[in-house]
Amino acid sequence: MTLIACPIFIDDAADVDDAIGRARAALGQGARIIEWRVDRLAGEPDATGVVARLVGASPGPCIVTCRPAWEGGQYDGDETTRAAVLDAAASAGARYVDVELAALARGPAMQRVLAGVSARRGARGIDGAIAGGTDGGTAGGTDGGADGGIILSCHDFERRPADLLQRVEAIRGEPACAVAKIVWTARSLRDNLEAFDLIAARVRPMIVLCMGPFGLLSRVLAPKFGAFLTFATSTADGQSAPGQPTINALRERYRFDAITAATRVYGVIGWPVGHSMSPAVHNVGFAAVGHDGVYLPMPIPPEYEHFKATVGSLVDHPRLDFAGASVTIPHKENLLRFVEERGGRVAPEVARIGAANTLAIDRDGTLACANTDCPAAAAALRRALGDVAGRRVAVLGAGGVARAVVAGTRDAGASVTVFGRTASRAGTLAASFDGVEARSLRDVARERFDVIVNCTPVGMTGGPDPAGSPLPDGVALDEDVTVFDTVYSPARTPLLREAEARGARTVTGEDMFIEQARLQFERWTGVAAPVEVMRRALSVEP
Ligand code: NAP
Repeated sequence: MTLIACPIFIDDAADVDDAIGRARAALGQGARIIEWRVDRLAGEPDATGVVARLVGASPGPCIVTCRPAWEGGQYDGDETTRAAVLDAAASAGARYVDVELAALARGPAMQRVLAGVSARRGARGIDGAIAGGTDGGTAGGTDGGADGGIILSCHDFERRPADLLQRVEAIRGEPACAVAKIVWTARSLRDNLEAFDLIAARVRPMIVLCMGPFGLLSRVLAPKFGAFLTFATSTADGQSAPGQPTINALRERYRFDAITAATRVYGVIGWPVGHSMSPAVHNVGFAAVGHDGVYLPMPIPPEYEHFKATVGSLVDHPRLDFAGASVTIPHKENLLRFVEERGGRVAPEVARIGAANTLAIDRDGTLACANTDCPAAAAALRRALGDVAGRRVAVLGAGGVARAVVAGTRDAGASVTVFGRTASRAGTLAASFDGVEARSLRDVARERFDVIVNCTPVGMTGGPDPAGSPLPDGVALDEDVTVFDTVYSPARTPLLREAEARGARTVTGEDMFIEQARLQFERWTGVAAPVEVMRRALSVEP
């Protein structure tokens, strides 16, 4: 079992009671072990006595870490004092003390800590740890196969260290190491795959984690690969390294407790993806129908080369079980190109629209892409208006969603005009459909429309203009007009509030969002999506 470890910083003796309270809260949330971060405390008077008291009063098993500034921590004193603090922690009963690999080369102080811990635990602890380390994620014992002792660690807060594999070998070769810990800042999602490969090849319990915005996979999928522990915080501001999730997010949003070696992996691919509600919606759906899957945000920078290299590595990884993805801005065209290059199946609507939002990887490795935005937009309008045949529809924006909405409404017999910010883009979109015209966004007010559909990100939380409306002044809005905003976060955008205030009917992006998610879910799982459960997840804060 992979443990959840919660780091808790403690500043001085006066902070002990409060820190114990924070540790209790973390254990109540589901942490299995506390990491006492005594970096600042270690420089205080009587630090050894306070650390011993802290360990004695710890409400759960603990790791004690005193990270020096030269390894990304906050301790800036000498090594002799630091060694005395760690030694006091071990004597007081700390399950683990963390010692940096680099510290062993900086003098004898930390070597003495290793020798002291080994002597105290005897050979049993170390042998037990090694024996528990190669069982593919179900290591015995209450803490993942290790039985206490030294966590020998190395961290790089800047990058993947060029000598990563040599460091792994050096840690492996140190007999006093009970748990090996390797942490670096990921340059892309692909670094997570290297982390998984290191864990899979372990000869003793290992922690391998990637920091930063690309590293969430390594943190959430730690149980899939049998990592010893993953770090998560009790509160959003309690991080000891960039990218640590909260315990609640890990367990509730990312299904941590349900992840096993067989769990299939899904995600939302885009740039940025931090605001996406898709992980909440799909994970809650997987849980409701008992599908063994987990869905994660997967940020990939805009260029096709990034997309191709990253998605190719995810698809090809032999143990990741990557089974599908929602694909959003700016990669919808890239997905189509990728699936075509790989000889996969392209759904007919994708070939016609030129963009896909759904990737499925079948168990035999076959790739397929589809576009669920197109039927979802048409369904949302149908629900609100009944038949859209013959209605005059104004589509604002000329990107991927606009293309899907134009296709969906044209197919349903509407008369469609595209209003774009960039004339060439709007023109290209209109030219791909019979009878569709393109105009400048400024010209929406010149005609009357039955339906106005916003397909720009204006009004979207975290977008380029969250407080704005895409409608220029002077557009006719009354009870005969329906305004459909495809933006779904927030549900009531500034555009919809304005439309409501002026008496128009409104359709929120939520309807379309849930419908396109339903179609994806059913493609991946083969079972009916629990639509109401998924809809409720949209309104829950992360
Ligand atoms: P996209 O391909 O990047 O296209 C965005 C379009 O909006 C482009 O035509 C762009 O203009 C235009 N635009 C961007 N900023 C603008 C501004 N400040 N003023 C006027 N026009 C602006 O994006 P997409 O994939 O089509 O997604 C668009 C929006 O749809 C997203 O923001 C999202 O909120 C929503 N969406 C909803 C769902 C759903 O299920 N409800 C699903 C996906 C997306 P240029 O042509 O000049 O670049």
